[in-house]
Amino acid sequence: MTRSVPLPVLDDSPKEECGVVAVWNHPDAVHLGYLGLFALQHRGQEAAGLAATSNGKINSQRGQGLVSDVLTPDRLALLDNYYNKDKTSHPQNRGVIGHTRYSTAGGSGIENIQPLVETMFDGPIAVAHNGNLINADAWKHELSKRGQIFHTSSDTEVMIHLLASPDQRDTPDPTAAMLRNLQGAFSLTLLFKDRIEAARDPWGFRPLVLGKLDDGSPVVASETVALDVMGAEFIREIEPGEIVTLSDEGVSTRRFAAPATKLARCIFEHVYFANPASTVFGQNVLISRERFGAQLAIESPVEADIVMPMPDSGRSAANGFAHQSGIPYREGIVPNRYVGRTFIKPTQAERAAAVRLKLNVVSEIVQGKRVIIVDDSIVRGTTTREKMKQIREAGAKEIHVRISCPPITNPCFFGVDFATPDQLIAHERSIEEIRKFLGVDSLHYLSHDGMLSVMNNADTGYCTACFTGDYPVDPSRPLACEVSAKAQTPLMNNG
Ligand code: SF4
Repeated sequence: MTRSVPLPVLDDSPKEECGVVAVWNHPDAVHLGYLGLFALQHRGQEAAGLAATSNGKINSQRGQGLVSDVLTPDRLALLDNYYNKDKTSHPQNRGVIGHTRYSTAGGSGIENIQPLVETMFDGPIAVAHNGNLINADAWKHELSKRGQIFHTSSDTEVMIHLLASPDQRDTPDPTAAMLRNLQGAFSLTLLFKDRIEAARDPWGFRPLVLGKLDDGSPVVASETVALDVMGAEFIREIEPGEIVTLSDEGVSTRRFAAPATKLARCIFEHVYFANPASTVFGQNVLISRERFGAQLAIESPVEADIVMPMPDSGRSAANGFAHQSGIPYREGIVPNRYVGRTFIKPTQAERAAAVRLKLNVVSEIVQGKRVIIVDDSIVRGTTTREKMKQIREAGAKEIHVRISCPPITNPCFFGVDFATPDQLIAHERSIEEIRKFLGVDSLHYLSHDGMLSVMNNADTGYCTACFTGDYPVDPSRPLACEVSAKAQTPLMNNG
């Protein structure tokens, strides 16, 4: 008898984190927010939502599913009617924030869907957060002891409770005081009745950019690709430790903390997460991936007939590998774009069938060939092994796998869900053991130094902890508030 518990066997990849957008005082803000979320769909497919402020109140539309499933024309029209209802008499103080979600903290329950909306002593607030707070549990424990009641299991709700607590709200800058109490990764937007505040943690784990629409309305997004889709011009990155305020007075900036001495921008944004069209941390993602592939060809050359990408994730790196090595690039694996998150029973036969359903190998391309397969990463390795078997069955003479990042050996505490350490194929296994498990002729990963060597600004700091175990913020000391010690930076207001 087969087990009846379904497993997501086609989903053997790192889980994206979240994406955020914000638009201030544009008549089409609801639709623009929707477009921005659509462009950030790759950052989270579990849930999506938009929240709008108008006339001193906040309304939202949220739900589980893809952006287009949640934000249907009817729901967008409802939110737009609310947002625009007073535009003739009260065209001020209107803004929208949005969120697309994969649950890296808390469960995937409906109560955790963002933007979270709450009512505080001085009005409503909505929060949309990308990242993961490592001291959220400690704060929840502490605040619960003080009598505060949490409605969600999300780490993001801690921010609202901290803002509402008397020792934060009575400070000259409650948002800054609240942010100084957070440890971990956060690129976030806070919607108030009269402004949006966008902030990025002092380590700069996740990207966050500022842009401007044609009429001058300011926008914020996780990635530049969302600005492109919204028709906004890129202005600049929001800096680590910075709060940018969007309001009817324009855009102003201040610091809640100095940037960390060594930044910890997530290198995995370039390896896997971010849209290739985006410029992240000052470098285009597609170009980074081509460079990873070229560097991989330098580090681990092999005689072969063709270079083939694992679609779609390995395409740019395979291009770079082929260009550097001079070996012809061929696409011999065809993805079925209509297979989504398929859940099937976990027998070996069904597992293999699921992989065949998702990817078809073109035997005319691989038959009798020495094939180099380039992919961006291997997490658990089970799906990769099925793919390799298919390629072998299609007649490949040799299979040489090249991975455009180092082996993932450690979990991430900053907003990426790989797997538990014992599920990671590279955790406490040698590369030779992994090669044998995959059943391929050779296997090489890009070196850590090689990966960083292609980044324009590597010396200013990247997090590479999932490859090294060297965490930029110690996850075992969640209440130690290193940020507070650096928070003496005077507030600045550049107008
Ligand atoms: S541990 Fe890995 S995935 Fe997590 S922030 Fe660091 S580089 Fe990114």
